[in-house]
Amino acid sequence: MLGWQDPRELIEVLPHKEAQAIQKNLGYRTVAELLEHYPRRYSRHGDIGDLEHATEGDTITFLGTVTSAQVLRTGRKTRLQLRVAHETRSLSVTYFQSSYAQRVLSEGAVVMFAGRLSFFRHAPQLVQPNFYILQPGPHSSARGGEGTGILKAIAAYGSSASHIKQQLLDREYLPIYPATAKLASWRIMAAIHHVLEKTPPIPEPLGTPPAGLPEFDAAIRGVHEPGEEGPDRYIERLKYHEALALALVMALRRADNQRRRAPQCPRKDGGRQEQLAQHLPFELTRGQRDVVSEISTDLATDTPMSRLLQGDVGSGKTVVALLAMLQVVDSGRQCALLAPTEVLATQHARSLLSLLNQCGVAASVVVLSGSMSTAAKRESLLAVISGQADIVVGTHALIQDGVEFFDLGLVVVDEQHRFGVEQRDRLRNQGRDDLIPHVLVMTATPIPRTIAMTVFGDLSISNLRELPRGRQLIQTTVVPVERTSWLARVDERIREEVAAGRQVYIVCPRIDNDGGVVDYYHAVTGPGGVFADLSVGLLHGRLSGEEKDLVMRRFHRGDLDILIATTVIEVGVDVPNATMMVIREAENFGISQLHQLRGRVGRGSHESLCLLLTEAEVGSPAHQRLLAVQSTTDGFLLAEEDLRFREEGDVLGTRQSGHTRSLKLLSLLSDVQIIQRTHKDAARLVKDDKSTALRLAAQDYHPDYGYLDKS
Ligand code: ADP
Ligand code: MG
Repeated sequence: MLGWQDPRELIEVLPHKEAQAIQKNLGYRTVAELLEHYPRRYSRHGDIGDLEHATEGDTITFLGTVTSAQVLRTGRKTRLQLRVAHETRSLSVTYFQSSYAQRVLSEGAVVMFAGRLSFFRHAPQLVQPNFYILQPGPHSSARGGEGTGILKAIAAYGSSASHIKQQLLDREYLPIYPATAKLASWRIMAAIHHVLEKTPPIPEPLGTPPAGLPEFDAAIRGVHEPGEEGPDRYIERLKYHEALALALVMALRRADNQRRRAPQCPRKDGGRQEQLAQHLPFELTRGQRDVVSEISTDLATDTPMSRLLQGDVGSGKTVVALLAMLQVVDSGRQCALLAPTEVLATQHARSLLSLLNQCGVAASVVVLSGSMSTAAKRESLLAVISGQADIVVGTHALIQDGVEFFDLGLVVVDEQHRFGVEQRDRLRNQGRDDLIPHVLVMTATPIPRTIAMTVFGDLSISNLRELPRGRQLIQTTVVPVERTSWLARVDERIREEVAAGRQVYIVCPRIDNDGGVVDYYHAVTGPGGVFADLSVGLLHGRLSGEEKDLVMRRFHRGDLDILIATTVIEVGVDVPNATMMVIREAENFGISQLHQLRGRVGRGSHESLCLLLTEAEVGSPAHQRLLAVQSTTDGFLLAEEDLRFREEGDVLGTRQSGHTRSLKLLSLLSDVQIIQRTHKDAARLVKDDKSTALRLAAQDYHPDYGYLDKS
């Protein structure tokens, strides 16, 4: 964590078995990693609030005195029925066929129970919970310390019963940790307690703690073992720390960006940019004009542009990018346009060329894709290196593979809001004569301000909210598939659309298996299939680049009536004559994804229709997501809605990457004030004391950014 490391191995500090269990179940090896495993919540003893708010199935802890213990028999089966009370609250506890429990749990015993809560006629009960005897009953043969399962694990520390009592009983707030089936919260708690005891006071990493917040050492201890004051202040301090780490990276990058130089590409009178603008087959929207002029100003200076362009699906980002690129081409430099998929890269190249041709603008556009033949690739590469290619279109791999440009002035990154700092850093080495190219990142998934600040704190942001005029309405309808009559109607509707001369997308959530594109394609096009008489194409990620390209081209030309595809068509694909989309098993997709998919229709002069086929039950979160998509086509609204259903890991793109999440406590959505504060604090620190800023950031490993480059 920022400015603090504790590389001691857990093996050195904890009993062997516990250290191993932690490594195996949580993947932690060092003390710092374990100490950053923060409680998910806290429970308070015999806290009726907790009990009342707990619902069926919650794991709860209850500490109390056994007020009655009865062994009941039915035939040969026995059942121990306990009543356990703490002050005014009581709970029933049942054990079946347990002679051990019958022997050691007796009236008067003080016992801690941990188990799953259930309700019997509205009365709370625990069935077969784990238990730990803190004080045996007066007439019992138990000595205290008897127990089962997880509670017993605490004894691994060789502590006496009274020590455990102190640990468990005297705490006002009991931390409940994210746990696994094999490693219960209790064992984690005991391990962390032990580690904290063996950890000397941690020096304040920031020199002095931020005003109004506790010291770092107090915060780390307090978050795990808060006193009567509760954990809130400590959590806030640690959130501040997490936010500051992100903010520092951005502040340092901003400072660094200011220092670097980019090629100056001023607007040229009578240039190709102007020529395109004058001959476009449509009028630019006001939003488009504003953004073009913002970008144009940026490009004219030698401060590297870092701009994020957010614009809903269909808002016309491509032409904005092309106008920007032509300004750079006008000053004799090259541009790269990066797309997330090959399908999109080829389509981009095609639509750029067609716009250029329509407007009579001469600029050479070259495609570079992984699946090109070696010869074709060599030819493209040559054009790139020699400077013959003005605009190079490819996938993000273009950058990863370190393609060399003759003189790269601008990089446009399309549909990639996860195009993180690291990737952008690679671009820096691409320029010529120590100049770094300008960067424009485009996305149709708007990002809330706080997230933009943290993830893209070094980018300026432009928004494109309005859609070009004449955009057609998309009527969206959720269709429950259990109604066979509706399903038949869907197929009929598809045929009507085709009969009217339009084209239809059918999207499936997977390639193989039941419900996959391959099966579905064969079922509907094979002998007797519903679309056997129509011209149907199949598109998915496993096809070769050439095959994909061929299918897309046929669909574009109108040779195909129906395109059955996976989400490879999710972004960017632009076929105005396609007016209907059917998404099968729509519950498999998130809101933003559905919105993106739907954006493939409604692009021409005809009204469009999107059907969301689903098995999701009414009222389930999945069904609610679909209703949200049905209710509006406003991408900004849907993006917010989407965030409510998702975790931030998703937003940051760290969840899939296999890294542990970097943010443990901070919520990018709700901790707005902390984020804003650290944003300012980081900027000040970088300005006033850059070496400290660098030192702090250098000690912080961020899964998205790696260790910050100190150079
Ligand atoms: P996105 O922002 O989703 O990438 P595109 O750039 O693909 O959107 O634009 C979608 C379609 O709208 C394209 O066919 C494009 O030519 C067209 N378009 C762009 N700007 C305008 C405009 N101002 N008026 C009419 N059509 C436009
Ligand atoms: Mg696009």
